[in-house]
Amino acid sequence: MQHDPLESETGFAGLGLRAELLRALTTLGYEEPTPIQQEAIPPLVAGNDLVGQAATGTGKTAAFALPLLQTLTPARRDAGPVALVLVPTRELAEQVSQAVHRYGRDLGVRVLPVYGGQPIGRQLQALSRGVDVVVGTPGRVLDHIERGTLKLGDIRTVVLDEADEMLDMGFAEDIEAILAETPDTRQTVLFSATMPPRIDSIARRHLREPVRITMGRKGVEPGEMPLVRQSAYLVARPHRAAALGRILDVEAPTSAIVFCRTREEVDQVTETLNGRGYRAEALHGGMSQDQRDRVMNRLRAGTTELLVATDVAARGLDVEQLTHVINFNVPAAPESYVHRIGRVGRAGREGSAITLAEPREQRMLKAIERLTGQRITLEKLPTVTDLRARRLELTRTSLQASIENDDLEKFRVVLDSLTGEFDVEDIALAAIKLLHEAAGGDVDEDEIPAPAPPSESRRAQGRDRDRDPRQGGRGRPSNAGATRLFFGIGRRAGVRPQDLVGAIAGESGLNVREIGAIQITDRFSLVEVPEPAADMVINAMQQAMIRGRRAAVRRERSGR
Ligand code: AMP
Repeated sequence: MQHDPLESETGFAGLGLRAELLRALTTLGYEEPTPIQQEAIPPLVAGNDLVGQAATGTGKTAAFALPLLQTLTPARRDAGPVALVLVPTRELAEQVSQAVHRYGRDLGVRVLPVYGGQPIGRQLQALSRGVDVVVGTPGRVLDHIERGTLKLGDIRTVVLDEADEMLDMGFAEDIEAILAETPDTRQTVLFSATMPPRIDSIARRHLREPVRITMGRKGVEPGEMPLVRQSAYLVARPHRAAALGRILDVEAPTSAIVFCRTREEVDQVTETLNGRGYRAEALHGGMSQDQRDRVMNRLRAGTTELLVATDVAARGLDVEQLTHVINFNVPAAPESYVHRIGRVGRAGREGSAITLAEPREQRMLKAIERLTGQRITLEKLPTVTDLRARRLELTRTSLQASIENDDLEKFRVVLDSLTGEFDVEDIALAAIKLLHEAAGGDVDEDEIPAPAPPSESRRAQGRDRDRDPRQGGRGRPSNAGATRLFFGIGRRAGVRPQDLVGAIAGESGLNVREIGAIQITDRFSLVEVPEPAADMVINAMQQAMIRGRRAAVRRERSGR
């Protein structure tokens, strides 16, 4: 290990977290708490209830996961879980369980994700062996409670994560039923990106004098924001490093800083960029002052063109000539965005701020725009064709510079010896080809797929409707682009609208708002989905379980 995790340098030490957790954070390369963690962790560790308004990307998962691991007794033998985290989707259930597992590794935490669509047998086995933390979707958690396979009598903390989304999916009653099974003495934590009245009402009924946390309310001072070009690219996580390389190829910054969240990420990105032919250097808090000074000197001397850094390492760093600030991911708080991009466009010079965001993080981009009062333009990633054109352009510029500036006479003997045999134009073309190849050659890359549609923005538009399927909100009129799917399972199997919505959204990734009217009869159900997504949904649902059963699914036959 590079340094003592208990040193206050980690910034986490002051939050009252136990040594095992601090160690895990150091290993993960977290250098300091995000603002939401800074505010939420101390009251949660002290046992308070809490309502936090925080979107994906703020670090909210660690904000609730670390405190619930704080009181865990390692190697407990009793079977019942002590913490329950309710989340809207299977994807989130997996993500949150992985996070809890990573943070709690040294404590030997036993965490189990529980969601529909996964064979229930595996979950039953794990539950009977004993777990500490259950992370689940409300429908499946309720299933387990009803079967008697999940007992909530030992629960000390319940977390409702992305509560607004769970209500959107029609899980309000399930949540109430689950809460009723937990001890009254429990600590209750609610995180939600938005705070519609129904969330407030849940908080009022189920939380006791909660601490309330809202992020990013302060505006920026006039003059604090430099006038730089601000743009963002939406990229799915697996393609982020490739996308960064491509953006840099096209932008060709003279001197740039790439901000990452963790030390690990800094090292990975540095490696990727060096592999792409850039001279990139890592700068993070795990390095000695000496190492950092050397990096800075190389940057000033121009032998390094790219600095890859965490916020902590970049603090107080004064580089005059930066042309680009690039956020490898959306910063955890709008304020740190302002802080980061304050490094370009100094003294009236031109500069660019570029942000890579996952589609789910679009809400954070909006929060930044609100804070700064400036627009961030969404750009399309350069395609392979764009890159090819850009590289040819670079070859052309190099040739032009050489014709204008270099002494070319000594090469004339080669030219003369060839002109007897070949056309001058052919000779020139061959020379261009060789130069082009020597400079990196043609683009040998696949296209980066466009990410799934940005669900956050669409949800935000319809959010205030705050529908509940069982109150009829789901009965939207059919629209022209919709197709009805038949599911061979209905009321007799206990199917409710939220089971269908949850299973479809969870299995196919279709946005909840794209699911239209639902009709449930005794033996079957009909669900409207957008026609272009119909086959994808049918495919995804082939193996899926709804209320513990597999159901036939196909397009509705006309005439039904
Ligand atoms: P979340 O908003 O919980 O989805 O977290 C967003 C991302 O930030 C996750 O990939 C976390 O691993 C990462 N993260 C959370 N807290 C920190 C921190 N204090 N320092 C660096 N990365 C963090």
